[in-house]
Amino acid sequence: MNSYAFSLLFIAFLVATLAVRFWLSSRQIRHILAHRHAVPAQFAEKISLTAHQKAADYTIAKVKLGMVMLVVNAAVLIGFTFLGGLQWLSTTILDLTGPGMTYQIALLAAFAVISGLVDLPFNYYSQFGLEQKFGFNKMTPALFFRDMVKGVGLGAAIGLPLVWVILTLMDKAGDLWWLYAWLVWCGFQLLMLVLYPTVIAPMFNKFTPLEDESLKTRIENLMHRVGFASKGLFVMDGSKRSAHGNAYFSGFGAAKRIVFFDTLLSRLAPQEVEAVLAHELGHFKMKHIVKRIVVIFALSLAFLALLGYLKTQVWFYTGLGVDPQMGASNDAMALILFSLALPVFTFLFSPIASLSSRKHEFEADAFAAKHSSASDLVSALVKLYEDNASTLTPDPLHSAFYDSHPPASLRIERLLTARSA
Ligand SMILES: [Zn+2]
Repeated sequence: MNSYAFSLLFIAFLVATLAVRFWLSSRQIRHILAHRHAVPAQFAEKISLTAHQKAADYTIAKVKLGMVMLVVNAAVLIGFTFLGGLQWLSTTILDLTGPGMTYQIALLAAFAVISGLVDLPFNYYSQFGLEQKFGFNKMTPALFFRDMVKGVGLGAAIGLPLVWVILTLMDKAGDLWWLYAWLVWCGFQLLMLVLYPTVIAPMFNKFTPLEDESLKTRIENLMHRVGFASKGLFVMDGSKRSAHGNAYFSGFGAAKRIVFFDTLLSRLAPQEVEAVLAHELGHFKMKHIVKRIVVIFALSLAFLALLGYLKTQVWFYTGLGVDPQMGASNDAMALILFSLALPVFTFLFSPIASLSSRKHEFEADAFAAKHSSASDLVSALVKLYEDNASTLTPDPLHSAFYDSHPPASLRIERLLTARSA
């Protein structure tokens, strides 16, 4: 491949991705507007027209914000690559630091800071403009910036040593550096599975053991029925930031814990909480979590092998608007270019990932129907959709690209037929 051909290929994928994303967004808006006037028959008794229209307006507002971000991100991508942004950044930093590890880490850090600054106004608007307008925001600007400072500190504390190890392997470990880097990466991911629930999440939220005795007994009975041992049931103060409710399940081995958002517990009846948890336990019992980790590890091995090849190809740099530096390592630049180019080449394949995730959701629903109650899960889902103002009438194609969960109507239909069968 020469650099001209690679530039053309990259531009072709970029244009195709942008065109598809805009087309999907406009389909989503049209589809939701076409169904805005009435609650779908299936939900007519459960959801008010006001709630249905709020969900429609909220979803459309999010899609529109997403379209603005698409344009800005594409402009930034072009600025970094073809307009010489990365080239300038690299030369400037090299002048300051000279070649070596400092140059490489400074280049990655500068890139991360600039990308973060581009996202900042959108994140701020999303929280205090959009979420606020629809009554979901519970954050103060002070908390928003405190979170940001903590996030940057944590990112630096974890990211810098990791980047240093990867760059050292790229430099010194020979042609198979990507294989060693992959082992480091997998080890790091597993470590995060343990550290996230026990150390990182508590830096941002308070976790208290579930105290409601009758709910606890109910949940313990369920866990006993399906043969699941957990280190604890926790309630998280999600209401500190948002009115959206959720429940999740984190950690593995001895560090497994179940976390309920306080916003979820305040809204659902005990039998509905049980049904939601049965769904989450379904993911665990049917090995969805392990399967997902295996897929992620396999994909990252393939991508790292690809990066191992690309980093030695001059066209990979010049095709994206960067002249490899003479006398300095280009490894950090290879990482940056790879992180910019990869999503452009993979977006069109995202329905494949959504497909498998949807299959898992249906399986977890069936598990919940079997071990808890289908009708309790249905009423919990209806409440969650209403509280999160998720649209009940998404465009099927948009949903195939973006949604990890099948549309509510399909899930509920399956749950109801499973019950009557
Ligand atoms: Zn699920």
